Amino acid sequence: MRKPFVAGNWKMHGSKAFILNLVTGLNSRAGELEGVDVAICPPSLYIDFTKRTLSTGVIALGAQNMAEEPHQGAFTGEGSASMLKDLGCRYVILGHSERRAIYGETDSEIANKVQVALDAGLTPIFCVGETLQERESGVMKSVISTQLEAVLSTVGIAAFSSIVIAYEPVWAIGTGVTATPEQAQEVHAFIRSKLAELDPVIAEGVVIQYGGSVKPGNAKELFGQPDIDGGLIGGASLDADDFIAICKAAEI
Ligand code: PEP
Repeated sequence: MRKPFVAGNWKMHGSKAFILNLVTGLNSRAGELEGVDVAICPPSLYIDFTKRTLSTGVIALGAQNMAEEPHQGAFTGEGSASMLKDLGCRYVILGHSERRAIYGETDSEIANKVQVALDAGLTPIFCVGETLQERESGVMKSVISTQLEAVLSTVGIAAFSSIVIAYEPVWAIGTGVTATPEQAQEVHAFIRSKLAELDPVIAEGVVIQYGGSVKPGNAKELFGQPDIDGGLIGGASLDADDFIAICKAAEI
């Protein structure tokens, strides 16, 4: 039985005052969480502040990105996997569609980052997903296969026992348009079947989150699908009550 996992991706939002208010809200309701793993991923600059503000061990910390380079050195502006680990992160989001589209991250860079994160003892939340145009032109599954295979060929199937996958249809991220539970389930089952071709036991154990305009009102139905194991939450993770409601909708 897979334990559901909900992670909040704060993206580039916040200030110390905003985070203090948000995390105070999360602290006060963390005791309600049971049967679900939960993480929050602040902007890197605020990871340490968030950690010092969190007073519960129930909510883990994650980052939204990290350097591909595994070693410290002359890489101005970058932050390494080992630094994230040192700050207390357990997770790192890799391959988010905003990183792919805005910063041009390629499948091969993302695959290298997944390996570097694993080597540093971080759990990657590895994002895959198709654009609307790719879905409408019938290449959705081949796009997702290519994204998956890039990482598989770098880290191998066994590493997927330490990787979380997030299926995030690009057309559903921050748009208010959510994939229907059936649309999401179809892709989640497809991802799991691709992994099962290589190792059915690992495939069965991999947590696959859904991400894309998840709200308290649609979370339960999405998370109720057999291959959807929680969510990666953007906008709604910036409100403590909404985020806790979404986490509770994933509880088993
Ligand atoms: C995300 O950024 O990963 C995301 C799913 O955003 P939103 O929930 O706002 O669509």
